[in-house]
Amino acid sequence: MALTASRWDDLEGSKIGEAYELALELKAQGRQIFDLTTGEPDFASPEHANAAGKAAIDNGQTKYTPTDGDMALKESVQLKYRRDNGLEFDINQICIGSGAKPLLYYVLLTILDIGDEVIVPTPAWTSFPGMVELAGAVPKLVSCTREQGYKLTPQALETTLGERTKAIIINTPSNPTGAVYSRTELEALEPILSAYPDVVIVADEIYEHLVYDVEFASVAATLPSLAHRIVSVNGASKGYAMTGWRIGYAAGPVLIMDTLRKLLSQSAGNPTTMSQLATVAAIEGPQDLLAERSELYRRRRDLAVQILNQAPGLHVDPPDGAFYLYVDCSEALGSQTPDGKVLKDDAAFCQYLLESEGVATVPSVGFYAPGGFRISYACDEETLREACQRIARACNHLR
Ligand code: PLP
Repeated sequence: MALTASRWDDLEGSKIGEAYELALELKAQGRQIFDLTTGEPDFASPEHANAAGKAAIDNGQTKYTPTDGDMALKESVQLKYRRDNGLEFDINQICIGSGAKPLLYYVLLTILDIGDEVIVPTPAWTSFPGMVELAGAVPKLVSCTREQGYKLTPQALETTLGERTKAIIINTPSNPTGAVYSRTELEALEPILSAYPDVVIVADEIYEHLVYDVEFASVAATLPSLAHRIVSVNGASKGYAMTGWRIGYAAGPVLIMDTLRKLLSQSAGNPTTMSQLATVAAIEGPQDLLAERSELYRRRRDLAVQILNQAPGLHVDPPDGAFYLYVDCSEALGSQTPDGKVLKDDAAFCQYLLESEGVATVPSVGFYAPGGFRISYACDEETLREACQRIARACNHLR
């Protein structure tokens, strides 16, 4: 007898997780590995957030909070949306969760019926299609090309929307491409979405604070006529370098949030109390570190782009946000490695980088797109420089 439900037989785990775990395994075996797989800032959590977390423990704030989050953090999130995005939310429009990832999943569970379709522009973060499937719905992948800046065009949206479409996920800035939708690009989607009044827009804005040369446009603030069906998801992980604290938040229409709250109360509610209080400090404390760190990320981005674009067969356009480079290696595919292997696809290409130079990257198949790979530049400049030089050297050795 099978011990697991047959509906999970075809379920795949996160490809990013797989690449990361392989890198860890090789390191444990004593190999020198340059790990560019992880989407985790190398910076420390803000000191004032750490202090607030410690104080919470010392003050005995070690018990449950309400299932959908502590009032103090909901008020901070309310303040954040007002301050950073010019958006007004009532407290009952806000839910706190144990990271943006579970919240995204629970938002999808809240809105989706079995068999509903969800539009997912690709290259997409590994977990979006998986979450849609876990919710019993069907991801409708829409390919967004390099020429389109890896962004969904109004034409592509129009041809994909249909009777069964229940939701669309817009991730800006994007993981894995770093693409950031401008106000104008979001506005161009509005008339098309207006024609489908039951479609919910899930806006994943977790990389909001990591933008370079452009202004961040929040989906809900840019498309007020659709605000009654937009759920914005964000969190402490990326901007504030608080990945391990596991705090995310969602804000949206009461009708959705009330049901989300019930789902959380029966399952993954009650986020960690001290983490919530640390996040209050991060949101309400000094914000200068965001700009300072963005400047460092921008430098790293430019360094990596410059080295990688000199490698034969690689092309990368400097993205406007997040801390990833999505590198097009399609020209290098089909070439032969020094030991005679033909690199047939992006997974083989990344395997070659790992075996020949010890550089761990994530193949684009993990983002539902062919012919590329993702590196994270959320690592120190020296590691990044060495890793990119090694990637370039590996490309130089191809025939
Ligand atoms: N959304 C995107 C696009 C991400 O890349 C990630 C993390 O990699 C998350 C959400 C999850 O964030 P959290 O750490 O808050 O769960």
